[in-house]
Amino acid sequence: MGLIVQKFGGTSVADPEKIQAAARKAIRAQQQGNRVVVVVSAMGHQTDELIRLAHQVNPRPPAREMDMLLSTGEQVSVALMAMAVQAMGYQAISLTGAQVGIRTDSIFSKARIRSISTQRVQQLLNQGQIVIAAGFQGIDENYNITTLGRGGSDTTAVALAAVLGADQCEIYTDVDGVYTTDPRLLPEARLMDYVSYDEMLELASLGAGVMHSRAIEFGKKFDVPIHVRSSFSDIPGTLITTEPESRTRPVTGAAWVRNEARVTLRGVPDRPGVSLALFAPIAQRNIAVDMIVQNVGADGRADISFTVPHADLEAALEAVEQTARELGAQGVDSNNQVAKLSVVGLGMARQTGVARRMFQALAQAGVNILMITTSEIKISVLVPEEQGLAALRAVHQAFRLHEKPEDAPPPHQGKVQRRGSSNAVAVVEHLRGMEDLLVESVELDDTQSRVTLAGVPDRPGVAAQVFDALGQQGVFVDMIVQSFGREGLASLSFTVNQQDLAAALRVAQQVAQPLGARVSHAEQMAKLSVTGVGMRSHAGVAIRMFEALARQKINIDMTSTSEVRINVVVAREDGSRGLAALREAFADAMA
Ligand code: ASP
Ligand code: MG
Repeated sequence: MGLIVQKFGGTSVADPEKIQAAARKAIRAQQQGNRVVVVVSAMGHQTDELIRLAHQVNPRPPAREMDMLLSTGEQVSVALMAMAVQAMGYQAISLTGAQVGIRTDSIFSKARIRSISTQRVQQLLNQGQIVIAAGFQGIDENYNITTLGRGGSDTTAVALAAVLGADQCEIYTDVDGVYTTDPRLLPEARLMDYVSYDEMLELASLGAGVMHSRAIEFGKKFDVPIHVRSSFSDIPGTLITTEPESRTRPVTGAAWVRNEARVTLRGVPDRPGVSLALFAPIAQRNIAVDMIVQNVGADGRADISFTVPHADLEAALEAVEQTARELGAQGVDSNNQVAKLSVVGLGMARQTGVARRMFQALAQAGVNILMITTSEIKISVLVPEEQGLAALRAVHQAFRLHEKPEDAPPPHQGKVQRRGSSNAVAVVEHLRGMEDLLVESVELDDTQSRVTLAGVPDRPGVAAQVFDALGQQGVFVDMIVQSFGREGLASLSFTVNQQDLAAALRVAQQVAQPLGARVSHAEQMAKLSVTGVGMRSHAGVAIRMFEALARQKINIDMTSTSEVRINVVVAREDGSRGLAALREAFADAMA
């Protein structure tokens, strides 16, 4: 007998008719021979309303009471859903998070799940009940009610599916599934039949907004197939598993995040410990840093840029200004009129020329690239905010995302099979909590060389020109970092395999000369990477890396971050010491 977890979001249970429609879906799944667990969110905008209410009696509502209050939204919907099922003549029982046995830490309003006991739910399922569980909530070790953060019902659903060993987790929502980009921004966006966990993680963090990132992390850790689909139709939606829709396509999705702000420290002394000194105070203020781009500069100094949400810019600047003075940086500047555009695709890891195509598309659209950072499956650029939409359209078009890939498997018709296998449950067993950081690997690639073009004019088309020329010479570029430089001049660094260095330098010189840029390089470099689940949702992973390397007095030359991986480039002679230091720093989180 199958086991299926169905989650209904706020819009899917917004009124009595919708609750009844959801109840019918649960009953149908049971009639098809499944045991059924239903997870529900608060009705409609109930959570927002409760938050408003709280602020009317206290401008700074205490966190514990806030969670007590917000958890009532889901309690209303589980009871109504159970009543609806029973009215249709089937057995159902509602349970709060505590009654299910969802244990969390005590960080109110963003609690993380530590464990879930399955006994009670299993028993009820064995009795033929449809179990209706409240999303978004749990209980800490002192019996306080906690909530998992906005949108947390997704996380409850996938976590329950994981511990119950469900065949799949269906996320019913008000969209048809996951699109190649937000269809409200680009009408040509295409609904995908399949998307991989890693792609979805990057897209979720990019603001695709369809699902809570932590839910996808659970899916990936425990290998739970997640089916995102509309609650208002029976059309199959998007299946999230280990497998991408296409193995040949370099890019599967694109996203644009508007509310970004850039901070740059110019002319920071290039020595061990600088990144740590800079980012630790920011982390202390609980500011989530997004893109981190560090680039070697001229004369032994580096430029470090990063982005934070608009709302955190002032606090970030406060944190940074003191550090900048202490380090003797040459200046700090910022810009909040920027947007981040990213393309994502598992296929990009195995293909050349992807960055080049993206930069070309942007150049043709007249978009100026302010910052670049790449990881194995994502390329992100920072662009002027007013060019964001045009930029998104240009790359969506360039990678033909509106067309279904030729090698896409046939649509899944809603029947879900696990694609890929894992012993995930065993892997995570020794973690303290289910949601703890999981590091899958720490790696060293000591075949790299770095090339830097400093003093590159800040105008559209320059990156395209550089990577075009490299592509024509057949040079495979690995990591790319462009930072915002001095006096409106950017600096562009990339790594290549050492074998390609001579060719890369030749090209770089040719391109640099007419631009008035200077080329420098370092032959013996190494890339250190930490890959895992929760690299960004667990603040401080980058800091832990910086700390471990600083302790070994290892200087970082370049940095790039993504949702699933953080890369740093260091001198080759430091490579194996760096590797050992990182292995030790992440020993407790290793798979
Ligand atoms: N009701 C909560 C919220 O609005 C949880 C959820 O909907 O997933 O954020
Ligand atoms: Mg929601």
